[in-house]
Amino acid sequence: MGDTIFGKIIKREIPADIVYEDDEVLAFRDLNPQAPVHVLFIPKRAIATLNDATPDDAALLGKVLLAAADYAKQEGFAEDGYRTVVNCNTHGGQTVYHLHVHLLAGRRMTWPPG
Ligand code: AMP
Repeated sequence: MGDTIFGKIIKREIPADIVYEDDEVLAFRDLNPQAPVHVLFIPKRAIATLNDATPDDAALLGKVLLAAADYAKQEGFAEDGYRTVVNCNTHGGQTVYHLHVHLLAGRRMTWPPG
């Protein structure tokens, strides 16, 4: 599960506002939301960064992304739209080294990101 804060959330060692869970994927609200909806989708099997993903991880990564899309549909903001983001390493702005997909919604996003 990895020795990150997200690994501790998976193991229920620290609290989180969990909005979705299955055998392979967990989703919880970001502690420091950047939009009215800001949920993090993570694989339970830890992959540190997108650079560390291998072809063996393809199905798992697909499940993480589809869980985010399903959540958007279920919560009713899929049609208005949303943004998914995977930050990688320092220049990408990654701070937690357990790969995660940010799902941001509830406002119009701007481009390019900062
Ligand atoms: P990143 O910068 O892409 O690695 O994103 C890490 C995200 O994790 C940030 O948006 C943080 O606000 C969020 N975060 C850090 N610790 C927690 C926590 N304990 N519970 C929920 N979100 C967290």
